[in-house]
Parts: sequence; structure tokens; C-alpha cells
Amino acid sequence: MERPRVIAKSGRAPSYEALCRDFSWAQARAWLDGLPGGRGLNIAHEAVTRHARSGLGRQIAIRWLGKRGERRELDYAALERASNRFANALAAAGVGPGERVFSLLGRIPELYVAALGTLKNRSVLAPLFSAFGPEPIAARLRIGDARLLVTTEAAYRKKIAPIAAGFPRLQVMLVGEDERLTSVPGTLDWARAMRAAADELEIGPTSPEDMALLHFTSGTTGKPKGAVHVHEAVVMHHATGRLALDLRPGDVFWCTADPGWVTGTSYGIVSPLTVGATLLVDEADFDAERWLRILEEERVDVWYTAPTAVRMMMRGGTELVRARRYPALRFISSVGEPLNPEAVFWGLDAFDLPIHDNWWQTETGGIMVANFAGMEIRPGSMGKVLPGVEAAIVRGGREGEPFELVREPGVEGELALRPGWPSMFRGYLGEEERYRKCFVEGWYLTGDLAKRDADGYLWFVGRADDVIKSAGHLIGPFEVESALIEHPAVAEAGVIGRPDPVAMEVVKAFVALKPGFEPSDALAQELVGHARKRLGAAIAPKEIAFLPGLPRTRSGKIMRRLLKARELGLPEGDTSTLEGGT
Ligand code: ATP
Ligand code: MG
Repeated sequence: MERPRVIAKSGRAPSYEALCRDFSWAQARAWLDGLPGGRGLNIAHEAVTRHARSGLGRQIAIRWLGKRGERRELDYAALERASNRFANALAAAGVGPGERVFSLLGRIPELYVAALGTLKNRSVLAPLFSAFGPEPIAARLRIGDARLLVTTEAAYRKKIAPIAAGFPRLQVMLVGEDERLTSVPGTLDWARAMRAAADELEIGPTSPEDMALLHFTSGTTGKPKGAVHVHEAVVMHHATGRLALDLRPGDVFWCTADPGWVTGTSYGIVSPLTVGATLLVDEADFDAERWLRILEEERVDVWYTAPTAVRMMMRGGTELVRARRYPALRFISSVGEPLNPEAVFWGLDAFDLPIHDNWWQTETGGIMVANFAGMEIRPGSMGKVLPGVEAAIVRGGREGEPFELVREPGVEGELALRPGWPSMFRGYLGEEERYRKCFVEGWYLTGDLAKRDADGYLWFVGRADDVIKSAGHLIGPFEVESALIEHPAVAEAGVIGRPDPVAMEVVKAFVALKPGFEPSDALAQELVGHARKRLGAAIAPKEIAFLPGLPRTRSGKIMRRLLKARELGLPEGDTSTLEGGT
């Protein structure tokens, strides 16, 4: 079936043009309060304290759904008191401003309290994904020069005890099961420390330039980097929550990303709280039925998820979704990977709402390119650049190559951004040279290839490292994957270039099938034929291999570099963020 090329804007959100006209960073700063007495800008003040002090105290800040069906709610006043306590407990433990506080916790309430309390103490929050094993944990603690780690007793015994000797300066605070006291000699106990700490606090002077967050990248293309963010980032978190996610005070907002990744902190903690929304937290992992039940029963207004979750839901068909009703649901968006056009249409079929793709990176700290609520969607496009940010398509600039701006529409190049927005990263910790190399002639080079159409929509082509050069063509894997998943048998596809003496590279696709389909030569032929019809013979894959599932990062991104390494029998490189690895 031919699909329309645009989806008309819905709702009453202002147009993109109106957003651009009315937006300035001065305005975005004025949406926030700043610390009382002109003492600066602190993320946690904007997220919690100002609401607790201005009449929103009784509103639910966090609604937590436990794995085993438990349910807990913290209103803004309770979150204020608890995070004050944690800040005071940190100070009592001798942890000062600028020092790094790591968390290694599942999505439990303590994680959110620790995150906000750390920021209140003006220490630096470095959240780790809780499923990491000892090695990746050690590597990140080392990069971050960790001062304190909050984790559970069970995780400590399994993952920290074996590496603890390497970190003589590190203090560990343990969260016990069911609030029971922990009993590991030489560690602090969460419950005891919290009880001993006062629940009142005046946040100390915080410069907008003070380091606030240390985020490790997903490691999709190699060894993860530690991106440094400052308190001023909150201006961006707040503004993009309103503009790009359509967040409004009182909304129930569900960001399904784990706070171990930047999305789960910027939008899974900070942004919705600054807006005065209710943050929904689900401790459990993905399960289509559970997620749909949550969307319905918790009356989620705005849902921020990832293409991989959408594709997993698509595997189950629309019936599962349509068996429930979602009258509150107003806006769905997705980030982390390109969103195939088929997924946008699937949203329309299943939820009667399109899925709004947006693009950003750990380095940018917040949403940079988005399908805004008041904009028509062009499925397959990541949208337009955020008001207040300048984007360009560029060529060259690396390793001394000549640098040029690409002005013609529809021409591929690297996506570049003009630095200056508040959540721009301030460095890769301990990797000064690598940081410097990201900038050329005043532009930040993102490492992603894209093109811009005549109307300013940006279209993702691929990561620079993943792009395939075949018989004189530059082929973005996303385009090929999107065509393949239009086929009814295909659940997911990952496309690589396999070196070839004649064509330089040939396009090879790895495909995971939907339930009810079996791999066969005939099906492979059919998929090649389908892709040829859609893309032409030059771009369509020449080879198809079936896999039960694709290798992905724990943050849900297909790891094409791993598909390629395995194909070529090369070393797999850093796989610390590989899902299912340790
Ligand atoms: P590493 O830098 O360690 O290789 P990573 O780039 O995957 O890992 P993140 O910062 O988590 O780490 O991911 C940002 C990247 O994810 C972007 O640069 C882009 O390649 C991809 N991405 C994010 N959102 C989108 C999107 N909407 N469309 C296409 N790609 C996206
Ligand atoms: Mg990256």
C-alpha cells in the first residue's frame, strides 16, 4: 500500500514558525527561577525545590511502579525532603562540590532521590546502567575519578567487591533490600545515613558553568566517552521538554529510557520535573503487554520511547495495542536510533497518533532536532532543528581535509551544529584531544550523516562510521533497513557494507523475522526483490542473512559495527555496552 508522504499536524500546538519567532535563550532562561538571592542556577532547584516552595508540594512528582506490582508515590514536597537528606548525607560523608557521585541502581525511588540530592550538594552525578558487570563499571569509575558510589548490597557483592581494591578513595553507600540495614564492613548504609541527615537544605551557590552530570555514551561505535555537562543544561532540559515533547504542568510523562543513559536523566528525571509534571517510573524491563497496560491505566499523557521498543511492539501487531484505550495519550516521541517510516505509520494505525522522531546525542545534552507537535510530519525525517540552534550539513574538516558547508538541499554530508546552546557538553573527561577534534571552524561535528530538504527537514542517513560505499554510491544503512522492514515478514534489519574487491563494499542485510516466518532461500530472494523495487538495484542489499535477533547496545541501538566485525571475523572491540554482555 502506498503511504502518504506527510502526516498533517494535529492538536493546537503552535507552528514551528511561531516557535522560532517567539523563542530566545533569554526567554528560556526566564522560564526558570535561578537560586534565591542570585546565587546561580542549580538543576535540582529548578526540578524540585522551586515547586515544593511554590504551592506544588502536594502534586505527585514521581509515581513508581515496582517490578512486583508495588506502587509508590512521592509528591514534590516529599521528593524535596528526601533529596535534601541525601545532599546532607553526602556532605556528612565528606563528599563536596565537583566530586563525582556514581549510581549503580535499577529504577528504584532511591535512584531519583540520589540523583537530585547529588545535584543539590553540587556534586557531579554519574549514573551507570545497573546491568553493567565489574569491568565496564571499573572503567567508568576510573574515567570519572569516582568519590562515592550508591548501589545495592546485592550489586556490591557481585560487581563492586571484586574491583574495590582498585579504588581506595571510593566510598560506597548501600541501599538495602526493603529498607533493611546493610551489613558490609567499610560501607555506608543508605537508611542509616538518610535518617541521620536533616531534611532541610539551602542549596549553596552554583555557577551555571559548574559541572553537574557525567554521562557515558552508548558505545555504539567504540569505547564509551564520558561527556561533561554543567548546571546550565537545565535551561535546555526545560525548554525542550516544553517545545519538543509538548510537556505541560500536571502531565503524566513516561520516558522509558533508563537513567543510566543520557535520555533517562535529561528526560527521565530533570525535564519533566522542571515542568511540574508527574514522572512515571517503571522498574521492570520491556514487556509489550505491561507497557500497554501502563499507558492505559496510568493515563500517560506524553510518552517518550525508542525505536527498538516500537519495533518490538510492532512484532506483536496492532491488535494488542487496540485491545486497550488511551484517552489521555496526546504525544508520542522516540529517540536513540532512526525511526523507520513504517513505525510512524504503525503508530497511527495502533494508537491513532503518529510517533514523533527526534534526534540528539549524549554530547548535545538535549533534543536538537525534532518533529514538533505543531508541525506536519514527514515520516523518515527526524524533523527540524530546535529554535535557537543552528544546524548545517558540512563536508570534510577532519584530519585536515578541506571544510565546506553544503548549501544545496538533498545533498548528504555530516550534520554539524553551532555550539552555544546551554546543554552542549563541555568536554570528554580526560580526553581533551578527542574533544577538540569535534570542532572545525566554529562548528561541532556530530559524526552523523544527514541531508536537509528544501523546507528545512533533516533526514538521517547513517553514522559516519556505518555508511557504505558501494560502486560509487554512498549508502546509508537506515534507508535500506527501512525498506526491508516494510516487508511483512521483517521485524528488524541491520545493514552493513561487506568489503568487495570490485564494488569496494556490497550491501549485506541481517534480518530478524516476525513470529510465524521461517528463514529460507526463497524468503531471502523475496526480500532482495522487495528491496530492489523500493530502492533500485544499486542500493538494495545483495545478500541477506537471517538472525534470531540483532546485537544491540543496552540503550537499544543496533550495533552494526559488531555485525560487521563478526561477518569479517575481526575483533569485536569494546562490547561493554552490548545487551546481554557483562
Ligand atoms: P558512541 O558515541 O559511544 O558510539 P552513541 O553515539 O550511540 O555511542 P549516544 O550519544 O547515546 O551514543 O547516541 C547518539 C547517537 O544515536 C546519535 O549520534 C545518532 O547516531 C543516534 N541517534 C539518536 N537519535 C537518533 C534519531 N532520531 N535518528 C537517527 N539516529 C539517532
Ligand atoms: Mg556518539
